[in-house]
Amino acid sequence: MNIRPEEISSIIKKEIQNYSKIIEVSTVGTVIQVGDGIARVYGLKDAMAGELLEFPKETYGMALNLEENNIGVVILGSFGHIKEGDTVKRTGKIVEVPAGEAMIGRTVNALGQPIDGKGPIVTDKYRPVEAPAPGVIYRKSVHEPLQTGIKAIDSMVPIGRGQRELIIGDRQTGKTAVAIDTIINQKGQDVICIYVAIGQKRSTVANVVHTLETSGAMDYTIVVAATASEPAPMLYIAPYAGCAMGEEFMYNGKHVLIIYDDLSKQAVAYRELSLLLRRPPGREAYPGDVFYLHSRLLERSAKLSDSLGAGSMTALPIIETQAGDVSAYIPTNVISITDGQIYLESDLFNSGVRPAINAGISVSRVGGSAQIKAMKQVAGPLRLDLAQYRELAAFAQFGSDLDASTKARLTRGERVVEILKQGQYVPMNVIDQVISIFTAVNGFLDDIAPEKIKIFEEEFLNYVKTSKYKESVYDALEAKKAYSDEIETELKSAIEDFKGTFSA
Ligand code: ATP
Ligand code: MG
Repeated sequence: MNIRPEEISSIIKKEIQNYSKIIEVSTVGTVIQVGDGIARVYGLKDAMAGELLEFPKETYGMALNLEENNIGVVILGSFGHIKEGDTVKRTGKIVEVPAGEAMIGRTVNALGQPIDGKGPIVTDKYRPVEAPAPGVIYRKSVHEPLQTGIKAIDSMVPIGRGQRELIIGDRQTGKTAVAIDTIINQKGQDVICIYVAIGQKRSTVANVVHTLETSGAMDYTIVVAATASEPAPMLYIAPYAGCAMGEEFMYNGKHVLIIYDDLSKQAVAYRELSLLLRRPPGREAYPGDVFYLHSRLLERSAKLSDSLGAGSMTALPIIETQAGDVSAYIPTNVISITDGQIYLESDLFNSGVRPAINAGISVSRVGGSAQIKAMKQVAGPLRLDLAQYRELAAFAQFGSDLDASTKARLTRGERVVEILKQGQYVPMNVIDQVISIFTAVNGFLDDIAPEKIKIFEEEFLNYVKTSKYKESVYDALEAKKAYSDEIETELKSAIEDFKGTFSA
């Protein structure tokens, strides 16, 4: 065997070329202090804010504090095995989560890893958890409705696609119930739903998933869960992770509904890790940038312009108040960021008015332009009736002899309150809603006992859909989405006919 010198030199050249390829360049740092899920790392001078860093045993962390001599890193996941002197590697990536169609129907943790036992998630799409919000020129005004299926909301605090509407109230006032009913109502509406559970009990999250499964809503829903038992960093990034998953759909022209249940717990988790990172505490011991924590999250919900595909992401953040105090730090922050709030009250809830919406202080600043005309026509008188009732009800408790007009207003108000009550997991079609509300605000329920109203509503809606009035009322309303004189006349005679058969 004789080898020519050129061959040897070419082999050596090739080897050298390949050799340079397998060299892995990574900046490595050393843990100088670790505890409470926070590590101080020396030697990573060029790390980026929010960068994913690799600790031993496939544990990851996120760089949050970039200081002169060291960086403060929050460890994502368990941290028991990390010791001083361990090496930490840069990954060069901002923390990201898997996204895309493969996520739908799955329950994942704050890093997008499945926790539902349905096997791995196969996707090649990833998105960074932190991303800038679309700018003003990439947006369009909110103009399509996002029906919640809840009468009191769709009539008085309507929500449009791309809107951010806060759900606020004390504990156990039905906040989660409003959110879950809204998800259930999106069936067949071509809206992808994301439910982000932050700091809740595992059993509560399991219940929500079970409810969504039994009502068929998991077919278009992603659940992101960072439960109370997980370390604070997971609670902190869970909303951003859910938001990143939603953005993948929004930027592809789809409609997304995202629920953050709840952001007060995220703020508390952020306070915890900020204090551990030794950031200076401010009001209520929250760090100075706690407003930015929520504003940069909620600004990412948008209605995109046609040039970007006209997708949307509607956000329903939830905030828990203490004893109805909406003027505490976190509630006021989030109220000022969102486009309106739905205020749920314990007193109403306990007196059986459920959903316990306080119509007086609940508002929606942009959703009105997305309402169908028929709803606008009945919602005006509805607000008025309710406002007058609230004013009089307080006085009426004392006086016994009331004049006729006061009595009439009280009667009407009681019926209106009654018609707005709605059970859980029974979201209602918008046409059904406008017919129900029409009967109440036009006084057709004034002679019916309040306790009979629920059954009257149910039977009457059934009657309209099955009798000769189906075409002239129900179908006509569905087609026109507005009340005309003919439809009103027909609906009134339908009510009269039905009342003849109804045993009040
Ligand atoms: P938490 O503060 O614990 O998160 P929450 O404000 O999210 O509570 P929910 O868990 O939604 O409240 O509701 C509290 C209870 O009220 C639940 O048992 C729920 O089933 C019941 N509930 C909520 N809405 C209704 C409704 N419209 N009709 C009847 N019951 C309801
Ligand atoms: Mg809840």
